[in-house]
Amino acid sequence: MQFVLSLLFISTFASASKFHIVIDPGHGGSDNGAVYGGIREADIAKSISLKLLEFLNQDSEFSYELTRHGDVDLTLEERAIQTNQSHNADLFISIHANSSKDRRAKGAEFYFKNLMSPDEEVIFLTKMENQGAPKKDILPPQFQHSSKVVQTILEDFHRKQKTRLSSELAKSFYSSWSGQKKRKSTAIKQAPFFVISNVKVPSVLVEVGYLSHSKERRLLKDSNYQKEIAKSIYKGLVSYKTQIQKDKNAN
Ligand SMILES: [Zn+2]
Repeated sequence: MQFVLSLLFISTFASASKFHIVIDPGHGGSDNGAVYGGIREADIAKSISLKLLEFLNQDSEFSYELTRHGDVDLTLEERAIQTNQSHNADLFISIHANSSKDRRAKGAEFYFKNLMSPDEEVIFLTKMENQGAPKKDILPPQFQHSSKVVQTILEDFHRKQKTRLSSELAKSFYSSWSGQKKRKSTAIKQAPFFVISNVKVPSVLVEVGYLSHSKERRLLKDSNYQKEIAKSIYKGLVSYKTQIQKDKNAN
């Protein structure tokens, strides 16, 4: 019995120690996202996500799940709820392709949820694709029954911690990125996108490049370039994981 129990413990520990990534291919179904030259953002996001899975499949340190399988409609709320209900999720990545009226705009961008004031968020949201999305709590479930005062302190702590780790994740993606990218100061941004604001785990929204830029669009639809991007994201995940484990061991 003792032996069976220790085996059970080992197998639970082994699976729990995997780093679990929730991958969210943006848009899908009737929501194309940006469309330029017949190329749909939804397809680019899905294709890069599937290529990322190939890298994660070869690394036993990681496990993953997708928010959407295939070309289906999924609301932003459903994506956030699925992530928050995934008990072992360590982080969340939402994959998108960008577009701009300025056809010269190009290069990948990495967004994480900031600590903007509500007023700044309102101004920002009016400019962004997720305009008007409702905001929800980011408190982890285990703290929900605490007293109001403790809850506020823990909520604040959790929010700051999530922001710090999300910022680390965005930096790791930037450093590992081998595709087209901007200067660091303009590539890593803070924004209250709905999905990254409403998941409890560290999260980054990756805009892999601009579909409105003709040269970049040609790259983005190329399978080899998509693979290169997927590999960059994978390498970013590996370096983030290594860094936070180093931090944990140092504490
Ligand atoms: Zn998008």
